[in-house]
Amino acid sequence: MGITISADDPRSIRAIEIAANAGRWRVTRDGDGRELFRVPSQNHPGVLYLVTQSSCTCADFLHGADLDEDHVCKHILAVRLYSELVRAQERPATTSRRSHLRVVH
Ligand SMILES: [Zn+2]
Repeated sequence: MGITISADDPRSIRAIEIAANAGRWRVTRDGDGRELFRVPSQNHPGVLYLVTQSSCTCADFLHGADLDEDHVCKHILAVRLYSELVRAQERPATTSRRSHLRVVH
């Protein structure tokens, strides 16, 4: 799954900030073996959102998903970004580490 990061999209910037704190996430797996990330809220201290590659429990996602089924929130973006970075680090050093990320201006 590719990710588009836009310097003009505030949500992209916040997703990077969230992904930078991935060390504070707690990772579990659901019954199907999918990773579930418990991601701390930026605005509500003490609140953890349950985030996967395609869903989140935050208000932004829950409201947006009613309007647009492709809606993603900053937490989902952060989880996708983090997963891509982890995968990139697992690849042999000979392959490009940046080809999976696209930066648009
Ligand atoms: Zn969210």
